Amino acid sequence: MEAESVVVIGLGRFGSALALELMRAGTEVLGIDGDEEVVQAHNRLLTHVVRADSTKEATLRELSVPDFSSVVVAIGGDIQANILTASLLLKLGIANIWAKAVSDPHGEILTQLGVQHVIYPEKDMGKRVAHLVRGAMQDYVEIGENFAIVKTTPPAAVLGRPLAETKVRATYGVTVTAFHRPGAGWSYTSVDTVLLEGDVILVAGQSERVEAFSLLR
Ligand code: ATP
Repeated sequence: MEAESVVVIGLGRFGSALALELMRAGTEVLGIDGDEEVVQAHNRLLTHVVRADSTKEATLRELSVPDFSSVVVAIGGDIQANILTASLLLKLGIANIWAKAVSDPHGEILTQLGVQHVIYPEKDMGKRVAHLVRGAMQDYVEIGENFAIVKTTPPAAVLGRPLAETKVRATYGVTVTAFHRPGAGWSYTSVDTVLLEGDVILVAGQSERVEAFSLLR
């Protein structure tokens, strides 16, 4: 099977939102949950959904989980089940394992086991919302290594003249990569782009710099 098919184990709030978003993107999704009610609630919303205990190796094999190239362990509350499931997936040789960690020590165990993608939804969302709460940002994505992309409105200093003239990069250390104009949608910027009031921009750069830039008015 291709990377276009994903197993999501644990259909709580996080796993469910993830599985439904994958479906929206056209990905084939096998959802696994131990709770019958949860399984019923996802009936027909996912490509396949089954009630099963993911801590049983035989079950994972029966469900052909090793044939999927990506598996997400979205069990949170039961750390033991989360770790056991992740370790079985590693044993089965799944190429792409994503596992949710509820704390730093939990994440460290998953990393030590060999899970390539350890995710911290609560922690990451808390960090992200802190940036949104602070400023005029409409969205904030930390790419890693102190680099971020934000969606914000352009400060007055960059309006009304070509970007080349505003010297955004030299002055603020950030790059305006794309802009959205009401009625025209999103476009890439060029040196000739003239930003207007009402535009929304995507800015890339070092985290502190994009943040400082988006606080300018
Ligand atoms: P969220 O915050 O995303 O709602 P959570 O962190 O509270 O979730 P849990 O509720 O513990 O996580 O787990 C999510 C789902 O995982 C639940 O629906 C639960 O039934 C399922 N689950 C837990 N253990 C297993 C298991 N061993 N096998 C299959 N499903 C499981």
